[in-house]
Amino acid sequence: MSKQITIAIDGAAATGKSTVAERLSQELNYLYLDTGVMYRAATWAALDQQIDIADESAVSERTERMSLRITPPTQDDGRQCTVLVGEQDITWAIRSAEVEQYVSRVSSYPRVRTALTEQQRVMAQQGAIIMAGRDIGTVVLPQAELKIFMLASAERRAERRYDELIAKGETANYEEVLTAIRERDRQDTEKPISPLVPAEDAVLVDTDQLNIEQVMAELHRLVEQRVAM
Ligand code: C5P
Repeated sequence: MSKQITIAIDGAAATGKSTVAERLSQELNYLYLDTGVMYRAATWAALDQQIDIADESAVSERTERMSLRITPPTQDDGRQCTVLVGEQDITWAIRSAEVEQYVSRVSSYPRVRTALTEQQRVMAQQGAIIMAGRDIGTVVLPQAELKIFMLASAERRAERRYDELIAKGETANYEEVLTAIRERDRQDTEKPISPLVPAEDAVLVDTDQLNIEQVMAELHRLVEQRVAM
């Protein structure tokens, strides 16, 4: 069996991170963890208990108490994983516009980040994992053998998100999608802790000019290089 490595894939919203990370995990037979799901679950759990999102200590406490489980898909409805808080399946609820509106705020709270980062590190201990997020290469797993930072223009990302929404049968407005992406970029990059920046030793992959097959080919090339090291 070839050497197994830890792979960090970071990048802004809708850069295609989770699509390529999931595919790569299947092709390499690695575990895949999308850490955005965890921040979304923390946001959902606070909103569900009608906690004021501006109340940092109440939101932090809720996150620390939350019993979160992420499992392989338990239903064949297009989900990448199943997300449970307690016994409740919140896989689709965490994709709501309300969660999206507050998730950057929740993820800016230090105690929330500490609680979730600890869980992420535990999950990475087994190796052979691909972890996707914003701060995996810089904070969560700085020792990862391969760090990818995905880039794409806001316009290209808005097009992709818009097409996804339409394909799901939802109504969407391109300008609104673009504005929401720009706003989340601003919040994610201006966060005082764990802002969205590439690790010094990350490989930048710009997906504006590449289709998914080309991105996958580049990722496989990088993995092979690291495995051979
Ligand atoms: O990747 P996704 O869009 O699902 O992430 C939702 C939000 O969670 C991001 O906008 C970001 O604010 C936060 N996040 C984070 N650190 C991570 C992953 C996500 O702060 N590692």
